Amino acid sequence: MVVARSLAEAIAHLSAGGARVAAGGTELAASLHIDGPRTSKVVDISQLDELKGFDRTPDGGLRIGALSTLDDVCFHPAVQSAYAALSRAALAADRPDTRARATIGGNLCQRPRCWYLRADYLCVRAGGDLCFAADGDNRYHAILGGSRCHMVHPSDIAPALVALGARARVVGSAGVRVTPFEEFFLPPGLDSTRENTLGPADILTDILLPPSPAGWASTYRRASEPRTGYALAGVAAAALVIEKTVAEVSVVLAAAAPVPWRSREAEAQMAGRQPTPRLVRDAADEAMADAMPLADNRYKVDLFRALLVESLEEVCGLRRPV
Ligand SMILES: Cc1cc2nc3c(=O)[nH]c(=O)nc-3n(C[C@H](O)[C@H](O)[C@H](O)COP(=O)(O)OP(=O)(O)OC[C@H]3O[C@@H](n4cnc5c(N)ncnc54)[C@H](O)[C@@H]3O)c2cc1C
Repeated sequence: MVVARSLAEAIAHLSAGGARVAAGGTELAASLHIDGPRTSKVVDISQLDELKGFDRTPDGGLRIGALSTLDDVCFHPAVQSAYAALSRAALAADRPDTRARATIGGNLCQRPRCWYLRADYLCVRAGGDLCFAADGDNRYHAILGGSRCHMVHPSDIAPALVALGARARVVGSAGVRVTPFEEFFLPPGLDSTRENTLGPADILTDILLPPSPAGWASTYRRASEPRTGYALAGVAAAALVIEKTVAEVSVVLAAAAPVPWRSREAEAQMAGRQPTPRLVRDAADEAMADAMPLADNRYKVDLFRALLVESLEEVCGLRRPV
């Protein structure tokens, strides 16, 4: 393990190859074995002050340093007042005893929870040819978008950031780039061995939230897996209702697919219409119309429908926030 004293030093270590980043370290130890002999060095970035803190951006949005803890994110006044979906997702995203150490960057970059991957099966994600969940125990796996690999993306925060239109700032050996979170996560059809667009020498440095216009409402609701506390199903939703019409809406599902799953179908059902309980139910049905549950996870479809109804009613002002 090396402790990086600057971002440039951290990137130099990563560029040498075979290295992984450690931030809060709450997940890394449990997932190092997935990379097997490919990881020979851990680069501790936890001392890098430039990756910490919260700032207003020139456009009126908010910058969150990737080393901010889940507690910092959840309870920050600007996050609570303008980005409720993010505050709620950060609260859900870890146990109270580790939320003070776990970072938002680590949450977004954590490896999948799929038990076949974690038990060192040579599956598609580990570089093999098969997804063992397809015909195995798939009760917690994907119901959408799981063509080659049926894992679900483990982060609660990722869908909230996609719903809020946030962007990732990444620094690596090739310089700085800014990517919308909607394009940051990689579906298995593009690359089934990586969860996001980070290269081996890249570090996620900041989360950039756009300004939140007056009247925007957002939320995150989920149902938890009893054994580990991870999401069985989650819905991040944001909407702007003007003169009884849905002017803008975004709907993103957690624990449904290998990436945070944006439901354009539900959004199309809602956009430009007067929000009513009936419209919201129709949107929930649209979101589930293409679901392809596996043998053990059919229950997820009804769970998502219920969470979609609750979340969309809430952001359209038809239901009180929880
Ligand atoms: C018991 C338990 C329950 C949990 N429940 C949930 C849950 O319900 N929902 C949920 O969303 N999460 C859950 N988590 C995951 C938890 O939120 C993450 O473990 C935590 O946020 C990771 O943060 P960290 O700083 O400790 O990351 P680390 O452990 O340091 O790193 C995690 C991964 O991210 C990479 N990484 C970290 N920071 C960066 C960076 N800035 N740039 C590039 N790569 C980086 C590391 O290389 C590593 O692969 C749970 C974890 C535990 C242990």
